Amino acid sequence: MAGEAPGGGEKPLLVLRDVGKSFSNGVTALRNVDLAIGQGDFVSLLGPSGCGKSTALRLIAGLSTPTTGLLDWRGDARGRADIGFVFQEPTLLPWATVFDNVWLPLRLRGVSRDKATPAIKEMIERVHLTGFENAMPRELSGGMKMRVSIARGLVTKPRLLLMDEPFAALDEITRFRLNDDLLDLWQDERFTVVFVTHSVFESVFLSNRIVVMAARPGRVFREISVDAPYPRDDAFRTSPDYAALCREASGVLGEAITLGGGLDDGH
Ligand code: ADP
Repeated sequence: MAGEAPGGGEKPLLVLRDVGKSFSNGVTALRNVDLAIGQGDFVSLLGPSGCGKSTALRLIAGLSTPTTGLLDWRGDARGRADIGFVFQEPTLLPWATVFDNVWLPLRLRGVSRDKATPAIKEMIERVHLTGFENAMPRELSGGMKMRVSIARGLVTKPRLLLMDEPFAALDEITRFRLNDDLLDLWQDERFTVVFVTHSVFESVFLSNRIVVMAARPGRVFREISVDAPYPRDDAFRTSPDYAALCREASGVLGEAITLGGGLDDGH
């Protein structure tokens, strides 16, 4: 469509138009960001520290407002109410069971435990934690805590899931498993994902689009389309296609770091 922001396929869910964000200390975290997020996209924001990835996610989440430009929500206007979040820290309630942690977003919407039970059980099963409903967070491994966090993020059936380096603190094997399981969920449920990561390998494995960002000021540097078909699995992870895509994304990230300076001072 003429004048449309890049990406986003045929049906954008959200379009960022000339979005900028400056802070009172003079840091320009984002400048002139034009980006369309398409319904059903798995978009990774990839870039060095300080390029504004988290700021972009916070703007989309409605936790912060842009200094310039606007966020244009499309489709039915449920917009911001229809977002799930998963952060690097699972941030579970330490005194609540797995079941009650997953209930939380529904509880905040006034859904009783009884009424929420089928949705909670379904999500716990989908993240492979059946049998751990009554476990406390302290009894779980890092990967299991992240599974609870994903179940909690998806229990409201959001159309958009925002993930801020969710697997960065996990060991590689756990990370691979969670990548696989997240893709299964995404393919089955058809929600849209915006995924912040430092990892070229992870962004190529997961996404259909990689938005490479540069710093100083934070901006979109280039977009890479990852045309490999889904489902993606271990065969893809070890394929020449995957290696070639990782090389391409690494090259673009290298350019973004060189041109952006790669230093986290934001000016
Ligand atoms: P990334 O997630 O890519 O590491 P951020 O979005 O966290 O980058 O930060 C982008 C820039 O904005 C950085 O220079 C950071 O220091 C700065 N920044 C982020 N939040 C604030 C804030 N609340 N006040 C001032 N500067 C901030």
